[in-house]
Amino acid sequence: MSTPSFEQGPIRPPSEAQSLLVRVIRNCTWNRCTFCPVYKGSRASQRALEDILTDVDAMAAAADELGGPHASSKVMLRAFDAGRVPREAYQVALFLRAGSRHAFLQDADPCAVRPDKLAAVLDRVRSRFPSVSRVTAYGRAATLARRRPADLALLAAAGLTRVHIGLESGSDAVLKEVCKGTTGDELTRAGRRVLKAGLELCFYVMPGLGGRRLRDEHVRGTAAVLRAVAAAAAPERPLVVRLRTAAVAPGTPLAEEQLAGRFDLPDDVEVARELRELLEAVGDARFELRSDHVLNLLPDLAGSLPEDRRRLLAVVDDYLGLPPREQAELALGLRLGVYRRAADLHDEGRRAAFAAQVAAPGDADEAALTADMLRAARDLRSRFI
Ligand code: SF4
Repeated sequence: MSTPSFEQGPIRPPSEAQSLLVRVIRNCTWNRCTFCPVYKGSRASQRALEDILTDVDAMAAAADELGGPHASSKVMLRAFDAGRVPREAYQVALFLRAGSRHAFLQDADPCAVRPDKLAAVLDRVRSRFPSVSRVTAYGRAATLARRRPADLALLAAAGLTRVHIGLESGSDAVLKEVCKGTTGDELTRAGRRVLKAGLELCFYVMPGLGGRRLRDEHVRGTAAVLRAVAAAAAPERPLVVRLRTAAVAPGTPLAEEQLAGRFDLPDDVEVARELRELLEAVGDARFELRSDHVLNLLPDLAGSLPEDRRRLLAVVDDYLGLPPREQAELALGLRLGVYRRAADLHDEGRRAAFAAQVAAPGDADEAALTADMLRAARDLRSRFI
């Protein structure tokens, strides 16, 4: 007989791949961002507190049945094969194998539920899984900016440690264009409030989201919000900024905009130039930069600002200093899984693998071929959303 089943939402940030996933609210209450395919066609709904708590208990029962944090993969697999745990307990197994340290509250905006309800969920997670040291959640800026400092302090005291906010852009023009339902001011207020409550904050920034038309506003507005929010972070808890290069997912309103010629997605060279300007425009703002998604061209763009600015600019400049053909080859090779980073252009084996996949006719026009490769690399980003 199996331990009880429980609900899991469809996504979590890559940094939560081995976390316990607790579904607090279903789907996205906003669901209008033009670039986002995740919950389109799904309705948001609240979950009863009792159901969420029962899920946490079910995950604890599955963890016991799987043999706890010290069980071998073999023992865990036997529990699955014998049907003693439900299929969704696979995530619990990942969590156990990773040391049972992290939990993530799903789906898009768990902070939208009443603070006392969320505190009760946090309390149950903490009591059933005492080894958990980090509990994180996505939060919409519009929700968090409305929360009173006392509400956020309650969540911090109940065990919430980090909030992930999809900043995407700090420019009002870009935010309006993509129907993000917030403004640069609101994002700043939400971010500062989260940090002041003693929570960690991670902002997701989307280079390229302004398209070619609003790219300057996008850089300027984003830098302004990052500067204002980073200034509110305690030295021991700096703001974290993760890059997610913009892509156009099929079936989204942004894809329709693109088709109608109203949105022009920048290629990877243009995105690199945008990032260079952003690194300059954030001035002495102090934050941790991460480039930990396959959508991004430059995974080495990670470090502590402002100390690492010179090194990070060099990462971008090294790319921008490549001959145009190599810039395009790196961008396309990365999306084809042949290259992982710029240094791979020196690897003869990988270059041969690229040439085998992208056979150019001997009489191909160099400039046209380069432009084609950059376009293909840009369009292939949509596969990684
Ligand atoms: S980006 Fe976030 S807030 Fe916007 S629709 Fe997607 S899940 Fe909802």
